[in-house]
Amino acid sequence: MNQTSKIISQAKKEGRKTLLEPEAKMICREYGIPVTEFRVASNEKEAAKYADEIGYPIVLKIVSLDIIHKSDAGGVIVNLKNPTEVINAYNQILENVKKFNANAKIVGILVQEMAPNSTEVIVGAVKDPQFGQTVMFGLGGIFVEILKDVNFRIAPINIDDAKEMITQLKAYPLLQGFRNTPPSDIEALEGILCSTSRLVMDHPEIKELDLNPVIAYQKGAKTVDARIILE
Ligand code: ADP
Ligand code: MG
Repeated sequence: MNQTSKIISQAKKEGRKTLLEPEAKMICREYGIPVTEFRVASNEKEAAKYADEIGYPIVLKIVSLDIIHKSDAGGVIVNLKNPTEVINAYNQILENVKKFNANAKIVGILVQEMAPNSTEVIVGAVKDPQFGQTVMFGLGGIFVEILKDVNFRIAPINIDDAKEMITQLKAYPLLQGFRNTPPSDIEALEGILCSTSRLVMDHPEIKELDLNPVIAYQKGAKTVDARIILE
């Protein structure tokens, strides 16, 4: 059995529908979707050791089934530059999360590579009661939330569908490069869309998938946050 099936059946066995970020990222990695390198630490010393191994700057995040929007809970601290900052951030996150939800059960703290700033895009998948698995693409932030500039396709999609989903966005000129914004690697984004389609077709028990954000570079792209919800 592959890693993805193992992670999904383990979650089912535990009676939960939400996969944790490290689980969702392991699944992405198995499907060739690039993700930031990560480890899960269970104490501050371990966090500092993992940070040294991964390399600075580092991002720490809460890992808890009870915290869905991690930054709303003070559960994400970015740009940590040395072991002391990692240890302080580790304790700060625990304190923030405790204040946010005293009953939150904490699995650990995710130590991860910090992806450099660039254009943020969103890749999603939703299982529609009528159409089955669908794949979504858009640009991050205001483009999705205010302008609703997103494209959907029914899965499975091929590389031409993926290309259309990207080039037919109103904001596509931004991905081609505009003023201070460098051009994004469209082929890398097409690859992520096709892999996402393959993943949700292989695993119909996935109800929702959210790669938000994926950071697009001139060469390549990297998923910095991943969420998967099961039926
Ligand atoms: P959530 O969506 O649950 O609040 P995220 O993991 O998306 O948490 O983190 C919040 C924001 O922090 C992201 O939208 C992104 O801008 C930034 N961020 C998170 N992880 C990284 C990372 N590894 N590298 C760079 N930026 C990151
Ligand atoms: Mg996010």
